[in-house]
Amino acid sequence: MRYDVVVAGGGPVGFFLACELSLAGVSVLLLEKTEIAATPLKSGWMGARGFNFPSTEAFYRRGLLDEVKAASFGWTGVERPGMQFDGEGKVAAPPPSAPRFVGHFAGIMLDASKVDFSNQKWILPGPSIGGGMVSLEAVEKLLADRAVKQGVDVRRGHEVIGFTETENNVVVQTNKGEFEASWLVGCDGGRSTIRKLAGFEFEGTEPEITGYSATVEFEDLAGLPLGFHLTQRGLYTHGPAPGRIGVVDFDGGQFDRSSEVTLENLQAMLRSVSGTNVTLKSVQIATSYTDRARQATTYRKGRVLLAGDAAHVHSPFGGQGMNAGLGDAMNLGWKLAATIKEWAPDDLLDTYTAERHPIGEWVLNWTRAQMAIIRPDPYARAIASVIRDLMATKEGTNYFVEKISGVSMRYDLGGEHPLTGRSCPDFELEDGTRLGDLLRDGRGLLLDFTASESMKLLCSGREDRLRYIGSHAKDEKSLTALVVRPDGFVAWTTEAKPDRMAVEQSIRCWFGS
Ligand SMILES: Cc1cc2nc3c(=O)[nH]c(=O)nc-3n(C[C@H](O)[C@H](O)[C@H](O)COP(=O)(O)OP(=O)(O)OC[C@H]3O[C@@H](n4cnc5c(N)ncnc54)[C@H](O)[C@@H]3O)c2cc1C
Repeated sequence: MRYDVVVAGGGPVGFFLACELSLAGVSVLLLEKTEIAATPLKSGWMGARGFNFPSTEAFYRRGLLDEVKAASFGWTGVERPGMQFDGEGKVAAPPPSAPRFVGHFAGIMLDASKVDFSNQKWILPGPSIGGGMVSLEAVEKLLADRAVKQGVDVRRGHEVIGFTETENNVVVQTNKGEFEASWLVGCDGGRSTIRKLAGFEFEGTEPEITGYSATVEFEDLAGLPLGFHLTQRGLYTHGPAPGRIGVVDFDGGQFDRSSEVTLENLQAMLRSVSGTNVTLKSVQIATSYTDRARQATTYRKGRVLLAGDAAHVHSPFGGQGMNAGLGDAMNLGWKLAATIKEWAPDDLLDTYTAERHPIGEWVLNWTRAQMAIIRPDPYARAIASVIRDLMATKEGTNYFVEKISGVSMRYDLGGEHPLTGRSCPDFELEDGTRLGDLLRDGRGLLLDFTASESMKLLCSGREDRLRYIGSHAKDEKSLTALVVRPDGFVAWTTEAKPDRMAVEQSIRCWFGS
């Protein structure tokens, strides 16, 4: 059987991309090398991953948010802007005066009570405002279930070991045979085989640290406080679940990551960085990472594309990796499907690299900036104290929250209106339908608050990819019409009487002739 797309790798990004492609009606084969989906590293607090605003919106816009929330360790929302965990790992209601967890920068905590979204003009309160933590196991499971439901052929135990590309074809070799497709997407993680075989350039910086993440049993806590801690000797974390620790060692990334993380090593590092006499009894599970920061210079080479960690690697500081990868998948899915269905404008697929590469580059720099502050030297300590002071201000808090949450992320799509290139506000129409509901089938929208017949005609012949909605919304943000892409980003909008020519041009640009 020949497929439209082979997706290599069944992590969160591969599965989300497979969902996007199958939603758009193309045939997908997903090849995952491991036989078993669940592992201790992906489950519980060990596998916990924080979701930012664009990821939450992506799940909301595909009708998956309720499942994500149900699987989470706790979810914040409009009514609860921050969260804190008690020693048992449960979400605790913080006393009004205590700082609530909204994230950190280089281990310096942000204070949720200072968060103020009132200057975020383009946000409307709704189900997608907020965030939380979910285990990788749970995310992958709910995405895998959705993918299978939508007809994706998922094959576990299939490791991609090679491929050959011709003008119209990619033949993918695995340990269990060959598969033919029109396109191959490498979602096979940081050590991506696809990236290496295809010869993508992978540029960046070498590591300074080895970071350790572990679940341990304590013999003597020795007063080790909960939370993120930036000390004179580096950074360590304790919690939110009992025994969950993290520690950073400035070893130049020399640790052999295929070898075992021993109790003695972990204890020595934790004692040194925390300045306590903490004693460990046992190490239940441990993993390591580095701050190697590299990014593919392009995300497409011929019929081969990259998404997620395969396209960009960096340290987990700031919790951006999975979020960046999910954003890649949301951006790529409809564009690749449009190319396969032959309605894509000529350069549509190239906008994938053009839009997502800058986001990946920002993520790499965000993690590098934190590393420069964590370094155990007097210069880094000096910068850290300046950053700490800035973060303690309301403006500083909101700067960092804006960046970490991705709330003001914007693609450079040209256009004059400040909302162009941003995520569309979650408008609530007169009948109570919200924008998030309207995007579930993966089509774009012409949202016409003037409800004009001539605007409706602009969608005709493109109903398979573009839906016309002529209705008033409860809060229209002074806008009169919007062209919204299938990923929920605004391609065009105006506050004046809609110019039919401008709308038509935008529709041609994103939805073809
Ligand atoms: C300690 C830690 C904490 C983190 N916290 C956060 C966080 O809070 N928020 C966040 O956004 N990110 C976080 N991250 C990063 C996040 O986990 C990754 O960015 C994310 O898992 C990447 O997803 P992916 O699907 O691109 O790759 P992966 O999750 O690595 O999945 C790749 C898949 O491809 C498969 N594969 C590999 N090679 C092949 C092959 N040749 N053939 C077939 N299959 C193959 C693998 O088995 C794997 O299942 C954290 C990372 C760490 C280490």
